[in-house]
This record gives sequence, structure tokens and C-alpha cells, in this order.
Amino acid sequence: MELISVIIPCYNEEGSAPLFYERAAKLADGSEDVRYEFIFVDDGSTDRTAEILRELSRKDERVRYISFSRNFGKEAAMYAGFRAARGDYAVSADADLQHPPELIGEMYRAIKEEGWDCVAARRTDRSGEPVLKRFFSAAFYKIINSVSETKLVSGACDFRLMSRKMLDAVLELSERNRFSKGIFDWVGFRTKWISFENVKRAAGTSKWSFRKLLSYSMEGILSFSTALLAVPLFAGALMLAAWLALLVVYLCGGAPDSSAWLAALLVGGINLVCIGIVGAYVSKGYREIKSRPLYIVRETDEDLKKEDGNR
Ligand code: UDP
Ligand code: MG
Repeated sequence: MELISVIIPCYNEEGSAPLFYERAAKLADGSEDVRYEFIFVDDGSTDRTAEILRELSRKDERVRYISFSRNFGKEAAMYAGFRAARGDYAVSADADLQHPPELIGEMYRAIKEEGWDCVAARRTDRSGEPVLKRFFSAAFYKIINSVSETKLVSGACDFRLMSRKMLDAVLELSERNRFSKGIFDWVGFRTKWISFENVKRAAGTSKWSFRKLLSYSMEGILSFSTALLAVPLFAGALMLAAWLALLVVYLCGGAPDSSAWLAALLVGGINLVCIGIVGAYVSKGYREIKSRPLYIVRETDEDLKKEDGNR
């Protein structure tokens, strides 16, 4: 029977973790077509989360856990869980039950019956969220989708069931500054989107402050786009064009007092263009440093033979 690894990042979730386990265990007990393992990642919690996870893992062998030495952030927690996953499929779900575990069964069936590589959930509405948060979130998706080659879906979250192939591809992108939403899109594969309704946190409070969210958004834009590095080049080119136009007017006898402007535009334009050239090299180096794979394979004849052999 196939195995699904459920990864649950937990940061101070002493209230939610037991509730999550209850719901998830019910799902696993009632499942006839697939087995589950639950990998809780304690992201340096300072409350009783770690003890709770130890107890759960003692009494249920499907529960595994990883406890960090300090808080490293949700991205690090998910990565650790994905690396530890032994399943044929893997999914990351929030401990606060905002990602209903029952959906995992539905995702699995969609993959098996309809042949997807990944089934991802997106929130249908953001009701219940503060207006300001909604506004900034909408602005973020506008900006990142216009400057980056990866396309992000608004409302998408990290709640998605992936095949082992896709998971391995995600792990192959071992960059230090991780922005999973972008990585999931970058690796490709056939993804089905399903909607689910926003639910309130089961217990505890949100671990995301406005400042954390803002820096997370910047992370996304900087990790998936080097467009900002080209800004000086464009600005410099504009300045040089203005310089040229003014020079023509000046030489024809118009604008006789514009010599200071001419000097400023020329020097400023050359400066910016030079910075832009440096930026172009930096952006090349940046891509090289990330050392992402050149390509990712979805299927080969080997897979076909294996599949036919299983029939
Ligand atoms: N989380 C984590 N490390 C952190 C912050 C959050 O592992 O530094 C976990 C948290 O325990 C939860 C999930 O990430 O399971 C989502 O966090 P939260 O519910 O606070 O975010 P929100 O739903 O408010 O966006
Ligand atoms: Mg939450």
C-alpha cells in the first residue's frame, strides 16, 4: 500500500498540535487505500510542543518528529520534513487546522484517478483577515507576477500533495533563501487546484507579524526575480536619451543656458548605465550561485515500463 507523508511545522503549537493529531489520526484510521505517516517539525518552540510530540510519537508509531535547536522559520521546518519523508507522496499542513487534514484524502484520490502530479489547495476567500493584510497580499501577487518568470496564484498556500517525483525536484532546489510558493511553481509538473474555505485557527495565535510577512514577500521577489537589478540600466538609458535631445536643441541654438543640465544628465546617465552593467553581471552570478537544476524530468520510458509491469 502506498504511503503519504504529512509534514506539520509547529512553532509554539501546544494548543493545536494535539487537535491536529486527533483529526489526522481519524483520517488515517478510516483510510483503506493508503497509509499515512505524520512528521511533526518542532521549530524551536518554547512552550510544551516538544513534550507533546514525544508523547504522541511514543503512543502512535505513525507519528515521527524532528525538534529544532531554535526557531529557524516555517520554510526550514518544511524542508526538514520533506527531507525526512519516506512516503510516495508528501504534503505539508499547518498545525492550526487551517489546512483541513480531511482534504488530503481527496487530494490523493484526484492524483490516483485523474493522473495529476500534484493537487494544491487555495483559499477561496480571505474573509476574516484584516483589510490591510488583504491589500498588501493582493499588491504582493501583482508585483511578483509582473517581475518574475514564475507565476504565483493568489490564495495559494503550502498545502499541496505532491508525488515523490515532484518532491525530489523540490528538494533538489536546495537554495538557502527558500520561498516555497515560488519553488513549487518553478519545478513545474501538472497541478490541479482545489478550493477550500478559510477557517479560523484552532488554538493559539498566528506566528506571522506584519514585519515577518513583509520580509517574506521581499524574499519571494528577490529569490525569483532579478528585474530590480535592471532598473539602473533603464533609468540611465532614459537620462542619456534626455541628454541627447537637449544636446541637439542646444547645438541648434535653443536653450542657451542649459550647459549645467547637459553636464548633469551626461554624468548621471553614464553612472547609472555603469551600475546597470554591474547589475547584469550580478544577476548572472546570482542565478549561478542558486545552482538550480537545468531541467526536471517528469517521465521517461523507464517509468512507462515500470507502470506497465505493475499492471
Ligand atoms: N510556523 C513555524 N515556524 C515559524 C512560524 C510558523 O513552523 O517560525 C508554523 C506554525 O506553527 C503553523 C504554520 O507554520 O503550523 C503556519 O503558521 P501560522 O498559522 O501562524 O500562519 P498563518 O496561518 O497565520 O499565516
Ligand atoms: Mg495559521
